[in-house]
Amino acid sequence: AKEDGKGVVRRFDPGRFAEMERRRRDEADLRRAFLEGQFEVFYQPIVDLAGEHTVGVEALVRWQHPTRGLLPPAAFLDLAEAMGMMPKLGLWILREACLRAVEWQRANPGFELNVNLSASQLASPELTGEVRAVLEETGMPPELLVLELTESVALTDLEESARILGSLKTLGVRIALDDFGTGFSSLSHLGALPVDVVKIDKSFVQAMHDSSVGGSVAEAVLQIARTFNLAPVAEGVEDGEQADRLRELECVHAQGYHFARPMPADELTGLLTRQAGA
Ligand code: C2E
Ligand code: CA
Ligand code: CA
Ligand code: CA
Repeated sequence: AKEDGKGVVRRFDPGRFAEMERRRRDEADLRRAFLEGQFEVFYQPIVDLAGEHTVGVEALVRWQHPTRGLLPPAAFLDLAEAMGMMPKLGLWILREACLRAVEWQRANPGFELNVNLSASQLASPELTGEVRAVLEETGMPPELLVLELTESVALTDLEESARILGSLKTLGVRIALDDFGTGFSSLSHLGALPVDVVKIDKSFVQAMHDSSVGGSVAEAVLQIARTFNLAPVAEGVEDGEQADRLRELECVHAQGYHFARPMPADELTGLLTRQAGA
């Protein structure tokens, strides 16, 4: 009976209760955020390193919270994924970004759009059909859409990933492996995935000038990309030195605060207009 009593006490632990209440509130907030249109898509330029021209963008979601201000994905994406909300939110992000990209393509032919896919989106049997519908609705040229997924997601179940990516590729879109190099142990399986682009993780880019070892990791990752015939995009370029070094290593595309931060759609429109006038 004593033990039962303890069990009951544990079940009504006020700390745990408060935590559950908070979670319930956060979930309700997120649901409301979606219904009330509080999410916004930001866009970070992807530049060609030779001319430092913006050749495309990566779509990055933000939450314009009514009291907490502009929140980064780290503040809400895990919960959205756990709640099973990501397939719906991810699809909204894709549609929103495609509508913008089609506008930007009018003055910038060939302008590319990168969109991130979450683990649950990849697991959804509707994914290919939904992407096809968005391409048709928005008039987005499939060859200008790059779908990014992280190495950790892609390599969880290699056969299943290969099947889903193969299905997506029948639409004519391209696939990028995000945070490339962070799942090094699985590199031998890389040839099994129908991937077109690798995004070299910022940890390697930023380690480039720290030591000769850090520098050679970035170099090795670029070499692997070349071996597998994958187009590399260097992420997290924060200074001119890193950009110079990447140019020496013949990396073509890059992204990072050195070039531009993620920005609202209207700011990107302004940037492209200035670029066209220059
Ligand atoms: P990611 O896909 O690796 O995106 C790149 C992140 O690096 C972005 O963070 C970007 O703002 C940041 N970044 C860009 N340049 C630099 C730089 O020079 N230095 C540093 N330190 N960081 C830089 P953000 O927007 O906070 O997004 C974080 C992660 O959240 C993304 O990492 C991605 O995994 C996820 N995410 C963002 N938007 C979406 C989305 O729409 N759908 C899904 N499924 N995931 C998303
Ligand atoms: Ca990404
Ligand atoms: Ca990344
Ligand atoms: Ca990432």
